[in-house]
Amino acid sequence: MRSVFVPWGVALSETERLLDDLSRYTRVDGIELLDFHSQIEKANYGARVSPALRVLPSNDGLDLELPVVKGEEFRAAGRFMGEARSRGFKVTCNFVPMWSASDSFSGTALVDLWGKRLTGPGDFPVHGCPNNPDILRFGEFMIREFVRTWPDMEVMALNHLEYPWRVRWAKPKIDVESLFTCFCGACERTAADQGLDFPRMKAEAKSFLASLSSPQNQSEEGALPGANADDVAYFFLRRPHLAEWLRFRMDSMTRYSRSLIAAGREAAKEHNPKLKFGMEFQLPSLSPILGTDYVALSSDLDLMIPKFPDYLPGSVIPLFAKEIAGRVGLDEGALLRLIRDAFDLGPGPRSYKAYSEPKHILLYSNAYDYSIFARQLKYLRPLIGNVPIQPYIWENNNDWRGLRRKIDALADAGFDDFFLWSWEEGISSEHLRALKGIL
Ligand SMILES: [Zn+2]
Repeated sequence: MRSVFVPWGVALSETERLLDDLSRYTRVDGIELLDFHSQIEKANYGARVSPALRVLPSNDGLDLELPVVKGEEFRAAGRFMGEARSRGFKVTCNFVPMWSASDSFSGTALVDLWGKRLTGPGDFPVHGCPNNPDILRFGEFMIREFVRTWPDMEVMALNHLEYPWRVRWAKPKIDVESLFTCFCGACERTAADQGLDFPRMKAEAKSFLASLSSPQNQSEEGALPGANADDVAYFFLRRPHLAEWLRFRMDSMTRYSRSLIAAGREAAKEHNPKLKFGMEFQLPSLSPILGTDYVALSSDLDLMIPKFPDYLPGSVIPLFAKEIAGRVGLDEGALLRLIRDAFDLGPGPRSYKAYSEPKHILLYSNAYDYSIFARQLKYLRPLIGNVPIQPYIWENNNDWRGLRRKIDALADAGFDDFFLWSWEEGISSEHLRALKGIL
């Protein structure tokens, strides 16, 4: 399947045009829809405009706040999915269970080392914690309801089952502290139940963050200390509770994910027996430190969807390198190269070309390295032959040359099927015509 992401605005107002163009100009046979209406569809990650609304008929049966679309909008969504399916398109639901659109839910949020609660992106004021029992009930309720009320869905793709980073887009800057979650009460209780020393895990995480936040004693001004496998082993040997914490949060996410998948499969038995369950997850090399054990979870799933996003090399990682280099007193460019190397993103350009203002959450136009697909294969090896893999790629700013290179590089790595996110302008009539022979 070749699937494209379609924002609800386009799906509902240009149904015939869109399906005609996709059939006429492309080999696309899948359509992916978000499980909510949100400003995120328009690359607006700024101030909230309204709460995001789930595309569900109601929240009856849930004693937690869950904003949903109006009845007429829900019925229109159902009509679109029925029409797409009747024309041969497989419908995927991009389901994000851990973001909540309700302020009243803020007590369920991820908590950082300083006790600050994490918000979700855009119009989601809460990013929930997988150990919080309300977030679990909330997620299980939604997955059952999507399975029951989206009868034309063929793939239920769970998304963002990971611990986040926050970027402040107004003046682009990464919030390094946001990478250190979660230290909420629910996590504390869960860790205690497992016999783990939560206060010591927290203390080690704090001292590690402090070491990323103040100048280090370097032999030469700004030079990078060398690092090899011994250094990494020694690092964690000296910080066993930090290693334990990383394991704890990954296991917490795995447990949460499995509960949701089980609830969804149970509902599917009755309502949609052929439904496939998949998972979209961050770049394979990064996923474990973001808390996604995609290898363990692959045995529960029918489809694995690793992401190869432009925003990692094009925004997030340069911002991270800039922030840490500034705090610690290292050379920013050298640190950026080291991170790209360590996580197999490919070396990237010698000099980065900046957009005059961030475009589609991208700061740089030339940061993507097409060797990333071949480089990431080794992390996917445990999955290959055991579960279907369908990578996720992006087309930004209608860059059809870049898209063609990605599709070619994917084919070289053995993948003909993919998911594509291309924003609204990427599925205009004019642009789809330009993609003839590419997509
Ligand atoms: Zn927590």
